[in-house]
Amino acid sequence: MATETTPPTDTDNEASFAETALKLGGKSDDEARRTGAIDKADDQVESLFAPQYQTVNSPAHRAVWERGVPVELFASVDPETPADIRKVMDDSLAVVRRHRDAKTVLDDKGKITEEVMQELAAVGYWGLLVDKEHGGSGTPFASFAPFITEMAMLDPTIAGLASVHGCIGAVDPVRTFGTDEQKQRFLPDLGNGNRLSAFALTEPCAGSDLTALRTTAVLEGDEFVVNGEKLFITNVVPGRTIGLVCLVENKPAVLIVDLPKKENANFQLRKYGLWALKHTYNQGIIFNDFRVPKENLLTPTKGDGLTIAYHGLNLGRVSLCANAAGTMRIMLASMIPWANFRVTYSAAIAKRELVQRRMGEMAGLIVACDALTAWCAGLIDQGYRGEMECVIAKIFGSEAQKHAAIELFMKTHGGRSFLHGHLLGDNVHEYLAPCIYEGEGEMLAMAFFKSLVKDHGKTYFEPVGKVLAAHGIKKPNPFNPAHAWALKGVALPYLKWLVGRKLLPTAKSELPAMSGELRSYAEFACTNMQKMSVEISDTMMKFQLSLADRQCRMAELSQRCQDLITMLCTSLYGSRHPDEIVRQAAEVMCEQFQQKYTGRRHSNRYYKKVTQLGGAIADGAFKSIAGLDPDEILMPYEQASTAEQADSPEHVGGRAN
Ligand SMILES: Cc1cc2nc3c(=O)[nH]c(=O)nc-3n(C[C@H](O)[C@H](O)[C@H](O)COP(=O)(O)OP(=O)(O)OC[C@H]3O[C@@H](n4cnc5c(N)ncnc54)[C@H](O)[C@@H]3O)c2cc1C
Repeated sequence: MATETTPPTDTDNEASFAETALKLGGKSDDEARRTGAIDKADDQVESLFAPQYQTVNSPAHRAVWERGVPVELFASVDPETPADIRKVMDDSLAVVRRHRDAKTVLDDKGKITEEVMQELAAVGYWGLLVDKEHGGSGTPFASFAPFITEMAMLDPTIAGLASVHGCIGAVDPVRTFGTDEQKQRFLPDLGNGNRLSAFALTEPCAGSDLTALRTTAVLEGDEFVVNGEKLFITNVVPGRTIGLVCLVENKPAVLIVDLPKKENANFQLRKYGLWALKHTYNQGIIFNDFRVPKENLLTPTKGDGLTIAYHGLNLGRVSLCANAAGTMRIMLASMIPWANFRVTYSAAIAKRELVQRRMGEMAGLIVACDALTAWCAGLIDQGYRGEMECVIAKIFGSEAQKHAAIELFMKTHGGRSFLHGHLLGDNVHEYLAPCIYEGEGEMLAMAFFKSLVKDHGKTYFEPVGKVLAAHGIKKPNPFNPAHAWALKGVALPYLKWLVGRKLLPTAKSELPAMSGELRSYAEFACTNMQKMSVEISDTMMKFQLSLADRQCRMAELSQRCQDLITMLCTSLYGSRHPDEIVRQAAEVMCEQFQQKYTGRRHSNRYYKKVTQLGGAIADGAFKSIAGLDPDEILMPYEQASTAEQADSPEHVGGRAN
């Protein structure tokens, strides 16, 4: 995080933009206050970053609101991982590979064994994000994130746990917000794996709505007394250390809590059956007068517990995208042998366009996830807050994985997808759950949109709203002289902005040297991002204070903007990549974005490109999945001879049962 921050202001006690807008729009005080609390937490996270790294100066924001997209901010570079850190990574991969080959990753309950967790601790896996001073390896995030992809190619759950522990668990909160004393007390044990950690935010009454938290910590002497219940907490078992988000004096706060080695009257785990994350623990926690030393409270210089939670979630969201890139590689690697084995109507399905298209599209999704991971992780290391960018990575990664699993992987495997022991059948909930955890996608899409419009709204619309409220004008009419007079001072800056945007030609965005096709996609993304500023502003103008209720429109605009940004990142990533297959996959992905944006039908050229790509992948051309162990083919059978197959009737359609 950047150290130079904006000077403290009195904004802590001021109503936030969202609160003001909702109140002016006639929402109840309670709804305005709750939404305002989230908005204020967001402002406080913002103030932790140097101005040049805050949201208004972030690539996503600038691409829409500035004249000309700052394309260089969307490029990524391959990280240079120091040799000592690479060794920790290679050793960690070796531990998991060895246990996987020996079939000893899971215990008899189907959970990752304690041996695996401890062997990973011994080679430094849990200390990757702990700084060197406290015994970790201080891995730059740009190296950590793609490593999550590597680990996910072996075991997505173990990869996910590195993020639970390092990003959203206790490591990031302590290293970022802890005092020196707290760092010295907690980080060494978190780094060497003596204490693994979890993140405890969600409650039965508070998931999407974080203002509904009820768990409290009340100071009594030298200890906080905690009461309340947490739900859905990944990686929690007795003896873990958790980042507990709770209310202290009615404000969200984070306590670092060392859970006892055994449940007792004050601390209990609530067990339930959960389909997702089945190879690790996910449980509820019930605190009943549970005591925590008062020195365990994290006290950020600005903001509160939500400030701390949001910081870690940013990192977690990029890791989630990186994990999806690894998980989809496993799917793709398992599609190939099956597609080459399965013969229908005398030909392997790998030779059929429909199946080739699926493999080509899967490669496109993988490359886009790689691109977003590299881009976001690089921004975080540079010191950007990156909230909007990390949200894009999270939404895209989770949706890509869901789409890949259901539309591309499941369909290719037919009925076998549903057999016990099949990758899809056994893991379908794993593939879907990322759409929900660390923030459900559509809720995050709205958060993205709010971040995108906040500054524009504050600059141009908030003053108008205040004047309207002061004059009791419900529906402003520019032809009403009284309205025009009241608004003249505050509406002028907006009109100036609008006229400038509408009349001046779209500013040209400077692209680096790129191959022809990817260049045209990058240009498309830039041009349309620039056009979105007026479209978004018109929408704000149209709905004014009721915009907060137009969720469907906000979600639609948000998604389109996210798609354009992903398209730009993917085109730049593909263009700098030496592998021709990666470039083609980037082209396929960009073409899909363009088609989605314009609503045009795909061209024959696209189908040719994507099916040729899929065909090449079926022949083993996608290097980044080479060496991955495919899932075994279930219900194998003797292949009929070519002569027998030739006798069978050829049908265009599939069999209808
Ligand atoms: C496998 C798994 C692992 C998890 N791990 C953790 C963990 O380690 N730590 C932790 O703290 N939490 C964890 N969670 C919890 C997770 O973060 C929450 O489930 C998630 O944030 C959504 O909250 P919720 O389930 O309470 O949904 P709800 O708040 O009940 O919302 C349900 C849906 O309603 C809609 N909705 C809600 N509010 C609005 C609104 N204002 N406008 C429009 N639509 C709305 C949205 O579509 C939303 O997704 C985990 C969850 C799962 C499934």
